[in-house]
Amino acid sequence: MQRLSQNGAADATRGLAILGATGSVGTQTLDVVRLFPDRFDVQALTCDSNVELLADQVREFRPACVAVGAPERAEVLKRELSGAASEVDIRVGTEGLCAVASRSDVDVVMGAVVGFAGLRPVLEALRADKQVALANKETLVVGGALVTQALEEGGGQLLPVDSEHSAIFQCMAGEAERSVEDVVLTASGGPFWDRPAETFPDVTVKEALDHPNWSMGPKITIDSATMMNKGLEVIEAKWLFDLNVDQIEVLVHPQSIVHSMVSFADGAVKAQLGVPDMKVPIQYALSFPARWPAPHERLDWGALSRLDFERPDPQKFPCLRLAYEALQAGGTAPAVLNAANEVAVERFLNEEIGFTDIPRAVETALERLPVHSDPGLEVLVDADREARHLVKELALPTPN
Ligand code: NDP
Ligand code: MG
Repeated sequence: MQRLSQNGAADATRGLAILGATGSVGTQTLDVVRLFPDRFDVQALTCDSNVELLADQVREFRPACVAVGAPERAEVLKRELSGAASEVDIRVGTEGLCAVASRSDVDVVMGAVVGFAGLRPVLEALRADKQVALANKETLVVGGALVTQALEEGGGQLLPVDSEHSAIFQCMAGEAERSVEDVVLTASGGPFWDRPAETFPDVTVKEALDHPNWSMGPKITIDSATMMNKGLEVIEAKWLFDLNVDQIEVLVHPQSIVHSMVSFADGAVKAQLGVPDMKVPIQYALSFPARWPAPHERLDWGALSRLDFERPDPQKFPCLRLAYEALQAGGTAPAVLNAANEVAVERFLNEEIGFTDIPRAVETALERLPVHSDPGLEVLVDADREARHLVKELALPTPN
């Protein structure tokens, strides 16, 4: 049974909160708002530390409320905003994100924070009956069961923003839930698809940040290079569409034109295609069930000579295997996988560890930390903290 309702939002003007407004998904969400200014009242915007950009967004969109990551950043923002926009309500930290997500003047929440920090505010939004457009896959990886519970208990609604999950959602529209046989998540393969595995220890941060098809924030770009992104997306798909592990396949498709596919009981397969542009799935999550006419780039069939598909090599990309294993193990294992990966990616970006140390660190955390079944939020928070601590302290040889 898929968990996402195919009945949805109206075309009226709706109050919008964007969690992570200064990031790649957040700024592209505001691009969509600029295309449809009459459809949204931007009520709340948040960032972690980029208060200069947030101040520009406040001056342009005039939200009632904002949230920033720390008190000193609130002070900087206040100084930036002295004058016309100074009446904005400024909140701080996780409490601030949760307050923003559950405001009474907000109908739709865009969850575009990166990492585990997005989980609590998404739960708050769903409990407050909001429509949540969710980009922040780590929320489902860590707390998929809690999100499902919040959806079942409340009147909230979840709509996928991640391009593959948006594709699956679109393929499933109008289909009986039981008729879905399996799904294929496509993956670009990232920048190292063709690169010999023996050179992976030499991968530099600059090379890993150079994604061939998508322009995204740094964390997900590194996740794409290790293919942990696809592993996280397998877990995300399990929770969004209530699938078993063996119903989710990954295929590398270097052109990133087919965004994902669904196979049905009668042998039919539906795919959703388009130019790789996040504004399309972002807009669909906001316009659903309508489609709003927009000037996003169209596919040029004449220029499209071929579409390639290939099974990924689990030896070359161990993160994908680790994600499947964590999903099988269940309980706190995906939270450990996620936290270990977040810290390992941060350490790689800081040039403290090498590229191949990322899967090594994640595997070590999964081996060393126990799996607790049916975790509540506090148990997940503890598992997250322990895994972060372990990987922060893990001695790994300094890269060349
Ligand atoms: P970015 O790094 O570009 O942006 C992250 C946003 O979250 C920024 O606004 C950032 O603020 C804020 N933020 C970061 N850390 C915290 C924190 N601890 N507490 C509160 N806010 C925080 O990320 P992306 O936009 O690339 O990705 C966002 C999410 O969407 C991720 O989960 C990613 O996996 C998912 N996603 C992204 C896609 C893309 O194309 N980018 C595609 C599909 C999914 P500040 O700017 O101040 O640091
Ligand atoms: Mg994706």
